[in-house]
Amino acid sequence: MTTYTDNRLLAAGLVGGTLSRHHGNMRDITVQNGVYTQLDIPPQKILHFHQTHSDTIVPILSDDDAAHVAAAPEQDADAWLVTVSGWGVAIQTADCVPLFLFDENGRAFALAHCGWRGVVNRLPFKTATALKKTGKCGKIFGWLGPHIQVCCFEVQEDVAAQFLPTSLHRKNGKIFVNLNLEIISQLKEAGLNPLDIKTPYYCTCGDEKNFFSWRRDHVRQNLLSFIYKP
Ligand SMILES: [Zn+2]
Repeated sequence: MTTYTDNRLLAAGLVGGTLSRHHGNMRDITVQNGVYTQLDIPPQKILHFHQTHSDTIVPILSDDDAAHVAAAPEQDADAWLVTVSGWGVAIQTADCVPLFLFDENGRAFALAHCGWRGVVNRLPFKTATALKKTGKCGKIFGWLGPHIQVCCFEVQEDVAAQFLPTSLHRKNGKIFVNLNLEIISQLKEAGLNPLDIKTPYYCTCGDEKNFFSWRRDHVRQNLLSFIYKP
């Protein structure tokens, strides 16, 4: 059983990361709740939404905001922005990028589900900008959890044309997208220092032992990413 995470997240007083497939298919909320219980996190304190590859960000800036979302977990959105304690947020992925952004002291954090459409819609830039605007951040750290990497993310010209030329890798007549480079570029534009963004090379599509992958399997099985602030 493996949880992929960033030591800086833990040092900031936050709990979270991306779980390997060994924890189960996180589309099943009872499986998710089992994970939280194991970690001594009250499952009812983890917020959920319905992901649609949009650029919609849900702000949780008060206990009222959290309670409102907890009562209506089916709203469409793809990123969380949190400045309160005692709550956590979850997203599900199976090749898309789980983007973790957090203040060095854990006073504010964000978690975004970034598929290629979300990246093209500039969700990384918008989420980082919204996080800065909370006024609660010193240095902001970024961490990209396991997702489909450039080795496996082959696209056709119509999709490739929506990315920066510098994010594309052409090989043997094929085109591959490097989402890491695209996201780093957007975060830099939002004012983050590229040196503060970590992109560990875990490929969901290439590592069947540890990850679910929509592109590889075409089965609806999801990995869980979450951040909780005790
Ligand atoms: Zn790969």
